[in-house]
Amino acid sequence: MHPERWVQVRPEGLYVIPGEFYVDPVCGVARAVITHGHSDHCRPGHQAVLATEQTLAVARARLGEGAPTRPQAAAFGEVVRIGEVDVTLFPAGHVLGSAQVLMEHRGGRIVVSGDYKRRADPTCATFEPVPCDVFVTEATFGLPVFRHPPVQDEITRLLHSVELFPERCHVVGAYSLGKAQRLIAELRAGGWDRPIFVHGALAAMNELYRRYGVDLGELRPATAGTKGEPRKELEGAIVVAPPSAIADRWARRLPDPVICQASGWMRVKQRAKQGGIELPLVISDHADWDELLQTLDDVGAPDVWITHGREEALQYAAKLKGFRAEALRLVGYDEEGS
Ligand SMILES: [Zn+2]
Ligand SMILES: [Zn+2]
Repeated sequence: MHPERWVQVRPEGLYVIPGEFYVDPVCGVARAVITHGHSDHCRPGHQAVLATEQTLAVARARLGEGAPTRPQAAAFGEVVRIGEVDVTLFPAGHVLGSAQVLMEHRGGRIVVSGDYKRRADPTCATFEPVPCDVFVTEATFGLPVFRHPPVQDEITRLLHSVELFPERCHVVGAYSLGKAQRLIAELRAGGWDRPIFVHGALAAMNELYRRYGVDLGELRPATAGTKGEPRKELEGAIVVAPPSAIADRWARRLPDPVICQASGWMRVKQRAKQGGIELPLVISDHADWDELLQTLDDVGAPDVWITHGREEALQYAAKLKGFRAEALRLVGYDEEGS
């Protein structure tokens, strides 16, 4: 049976009728499948939740009391029956534990990909295309202007700047779940073996990534010295902090900071300028325009449903490629971790 007959858009989010559950609902529900731990996909107040073990760990760490009351972990590739639906999780390559959700019911197959990217990421499993009738895709960077350069190029630019300004401190804004740990892991891969200083808001997620085997090297707290006196050891150092902190007084207490930000939005020069970003790094955990289109080909689903982001351009391009494409106009998803 075609998924359009058993999957509905409701105010709470995508609803799977024969399983009586939602995927990434925007408010607390009795039963949900959660793709990953970013706050717009993993809300507080759910009861039964199926997700990867890592996503459930993120939910516990971030939501506390609001974490799912009846969590159930599924491994990638393990089939879990919910009502009359077979549910299987596959890697989405977005952040630690991020999954695509394959749902099968009476011969019909739909995949909800959540957020995803196609590039290698040392902190999570790589996206796998899964054949299906309907592919549900995000469109965060669904405009031809968004093309992410190789991550190594951006890391090289950062390290080059550190070399040029040995007395200054480079502070990089990066989302606390996913981007921060990926940035640190990529800096290690790029040869930066000195301690990396981190804002306190990143500590819990760094620890969780470590527990799941992601090597981040030596990390130290980046707290400024007493009375706002800059710490000597932060000269020439790299500091990673949440994006909110780099625009804050907190960052100004660092020794002559070079303000950097790691985000797909840094492709937009105006956006970097407005944010006071001196060194924009185009590093994203979402598919860029080419990856979005490539993924439609790789998955090969005749129907494409587009969730959040810039739906119109992707819908248009998908139609030109011969897909039936529909914008779902789901609301309530912001762009955490872009
Ligand atoms: Zn996300
Ligand atoms: Zn999202």
